[in-house]
Amino acid sequence: MLTPTEAIDVFPFDNSYARLPERLFARLPPTPVAAPRLIRLNEALARHLRLDPDKLASPEGVAVLAGNRVPQLGEPLAMAYAGHQFGAFVPQLGDGRAILLGEVVDADGIRRDIQLKGSGPTPFSRNGDGRAALGPVLREYIVSEAMAALGIPTTRSLAVVTTGETVRREMPLPGAVLTRVASSHIRVGTFQYFAVRADVDALRHLADHVIARHYPEATGAVNPYRALLDQVIARQADLIARWLHVGFIHGVMNTDNMSIAGETIDYGPCAFMDSYDPATVYSSIDSVGRYAYGNQPRIALWNLARLAEALLQLLDEDKDNAVQKANEALNGFGARFEAAYVEGLRNKLGLLQPQADDLSLAQGLLDLMAKNGADFTLTFRNLGEAAASPEGDAGVRNLFTDPTAYDAWAEAWRRRLADDGTVAVHERMSVMRAANPGVIPRNHLVEEAISAAVDNNDFTPFEELIAVLARPYEDVPATLARYAVPPRPDQVVRQTFCGT
Ligand code: AMP
Ligand code: MG
Repeated sequence: MLTPTEAIDVFPFDNSYARLPERLFARLPPTPVAAPRLIRLNEALARHLRLDPDKLASPEGVAVLAGNRVPQLGEPLAMAYAGHQFGAFVPQLGDGRAILLGEVVDADGIRRDIQLKGSGPTPFSRNGDGRAALGPVLREYIVSEAMAALGIPTTRSLAVVTTGETVRREMPLPGAVLTRVASSHIRVGTFQYFAVRADVDALRHLADHVIARHYPEATGAVNPYRALLDQVIARQADLIARWLHVGFIHGVMNTDNMSIAGETIDYGPCAFMDSYDPATVYSSIDSVGRYAYGNQPRIALWNLARLAEALLQLLDEDKDNAVQKANEALNGFGARFEAAYVEGLRNKLGLLQPQADDLSLAQGLLDLMAKNGADFTLTFRNLGEAAASPEGDAGVRNLFTDPTAYDAWAEAWRRRLADDGTVAVHERMSVMRAANPGVIPRNHLVEEAISAAVDNNDFTPFEELIAVLARPYEDVPATLARYAVPPRPDQVVRQTFCGT
């Protein structure tokens, strides 16, 4: 038996959210599960969080990760939030199957939420069971950790525990709990929850908390709430640009799934594109393509407009002035997004010195890729070889149904490269390699790893996949080559599911 003092060490919590007014959340412990088994512990992340992986993997630690035991410094709570789901406002959503255990300060001095997802019902569960199935938990683990390795702001996954219980969805499925780490779980919808209740006092507490925690620079601004809005807009613009650069489709960009800190959050039916098509949608519930790949910038701006509305009462006492400030802030999104988007595309094309036509050059390639069903990831990855010498062209043109389509574009690209200053080839290639991953969590590989785990209790493909995805910018060894190639026609996955 561990003594209580030893147990404290599992998570040295310091809980700032739990000190906010009580109406921001509901306090309750997670609901224990029958038979916790640790499936995966992210040891590197644990160390970064200044946690002891051995303690986390001990029976006491696993009991905490399963929700069977609340650590001494934990102050478990479910956060209140609202949100627009597919455009329709729902005044009360909230953590219906997640519990914030507490916060730790990581090795970089950044405060991180430790949250259990799938930890049982809460006052926000509505008709849900508060649980998560193993498949979606593994999907979130795989994709969130892949995003982190790609260098894209995201929540992280610290652990997966199976519960020994069955969850009922369309069919009975094994249950699991994910331990999720975020720089906070505050969402656009968290602000909406208090705005719709005209609870300005709570809004101010929340905004002040967010400024102190995520945007301390805003404290010194003439209007800190305006500065907060500006900065959330900037971070989201940057984030969406990063998604587009790697072919990521979030799938459910509801306002309750948009983080105030600018991290990718709430991985549901998310997916990466194989062949490039801006209209790509995978989510089974997104029938009109609201959250299609190419719509994501527009939707982000729409969501940010909902945030601006929620902040109106803080922006200015005068309604008209508040609206004007909100609009000024929102007007900043377009330029910020475009700058981030073009900068990333330049790196992807190996253009080191900006020129005015760079976006149209990149767009020209993207249009041809769409027409020719070219694989998004491999086209850019292989372009690195083509930058070194025209012998590399074969690796790109083979990805196009009509390879000559690439040739014409490549001529224009080479002229542009020749006009890009005296940059050493290896320097250009290393910029391109750092901007063009060779491996992404392709749907068919994710599905394969999930089915092996769920259907056969075999976690080997899951482990192998996350190991490969941890180094997305390196070339994969020959033995793992299948992780770096597009699906065969019979392997293509066309639909993904939320699985809630
Ligand atoms: P999501 O689609 O995961 O972003 O969730 C939308 C809302 O539904 C949030 O308020 C969740 O907490 C809630 N929710 C999703 N799945 C469940 C579940 N199994 N039990 C209770 N609430 C859930
Ligand atoms: Mg959500």
